[in-house]
Amino acid sequence: MAFGFITFIYMLKCLPLYRIFGLMILLLYLCHGCTSSKHSLAADCNEKEDVFYCEDTICAKDYHGHIDTIYKQMPSDMHYDMDQTIYFPIVFKIHNAANNPRIVNPKDITQAVQILNEAFLPSAIQFKLQSVEKISEANTLQQITENTYEAYPAFSKKYDELDAITIHLLDDNGEYCEEQDNIVSCRRVHGFTYILNYQYPNIVMSKPDLLNEKVLPHEMGHFFGLFHTHRDMEGEEKIIRSDCETTGDHLCSTPADPGPLYGIYIDYTRCEMIGYTDQNGYEYKPMINNYMSYYYPCYRRAFTFTEEQYIVMRTAALSVVRNYLIEEEIDND
Ligand SMILES: [Zn+2]
Repeated sequence: MAFGFITFIYMLKCLPLYRIFGLMILLLYLCHGCTSSKHSLAADCNEKEDVFYCEDTICAKDYHGHIDTIYKQMPSDMHYDMDQTIYFPIVFKIHNAANNPRIVNPKDITQAVQILNEAFLPSAIQFKLQSVEKISEANTLQQITENTYEAYPAFSKKYDELDAITIHLLDDNGEYCEEQDNIVSCRRVHGFTYILNYQYPNIVMSKPDLLNEKVLPHEMGHFFGLFHTHRDMEGEEKIIRSDCETTGDHLCSTPADPGPLYGIYIDYTRCEMIGYTDQNGYEYKPMINNYMSYYYPCYRRAFTFTEEQYIVMRTAALSVVRNYLIEEEIDND
C-alpha cells in the first residue's frame, strides 16, 4: 500500500455561473506479492517474533502486521525516551526527464532537509544529507504512477540505496487536468511512499514540491509508521473518541477527521472546521494543521505532529524495519 499526498479536484463546466468546486483525495492502494528484493535485513531479524517473512524478504503485503505490532505496544512499550538523537542518512536522487527537466538548486535540497529536521526535532529523529545524485533521461512522476504504480517496484529496485533513505525527485509533465463531457478533473501526485516497509525504503516526490513545508514531512511520517488522520479502513472514527485506538489513525491524540472532501467546512483563518456534524449531531473538529491530514495550510498556523505521533515515529525508527538505516545516535545533553 503506497500512501501519497495527492490532490484531486473536479470542476463542472456545464454552466459558468454554476461551477462547482470539490476536493477529494484519492488513496491509492498497491498490492504486491512476494518478490525478491536487494534490501537485506539485519542478521537477527528472523529471531524477532514480530517480523513477517516471505522467504528471505519481507512481503509488502505483510507490512501491516508490523505496524499493528507497533501500535499494539502503546502505551506501555513505546519509546518515550528521547535521550538520544538518532540520525538517518538520506540520499537525494534527481531524476531529469529527457525533455525540459526542472533544474533543482542545491540550496533548495539543503533547505528541504532543514524543513524536515525542524518537523522531526521533537521526536529526536534527524536526517543527514549524504549525497545528491543526478539521473538523466529519467522517468517522470506520471510514468511511475500510471497503471496503478506499475513501474514503481522496478524503479525502486534499480535506484534505491541499501544503507540510506532515498528521496527521489521526479519531473512531472505539469498536465494535471483533463476535460471530458464538460467536466474538468484535475489530479496531482505530490509524493508517495509505503508505510513502514522494508522493501521500498524510499520517498518519491515531484520536484515542484521540494520546498513545500508539508509534503516531505508528511511522507516521512508515513515512512515511520503514521497513517492519515482521516483513515477509515476500520470504519469511521467516532467524534466522541470511544474507539480512537482501533479506528481512524489509531491515535487518540488526533481528533476524528471526516477527510478532505469536507474541507469546504473549514475556516482556514481560524484553522477550524465549523458546522459539519455526524449523525448524532456531534461536530467534527479535526486537527487541520496536522502533517498527516489532507487539508490546506492554515493562516499563520504551523503544521504539527502530536506528541503521540512523535512517539510512534520514534518507536518505528528503532524497530527492526528501520533501525538498520540508523547512522549514529548521539546523547542529548
Ligand atoms: Zn499521505
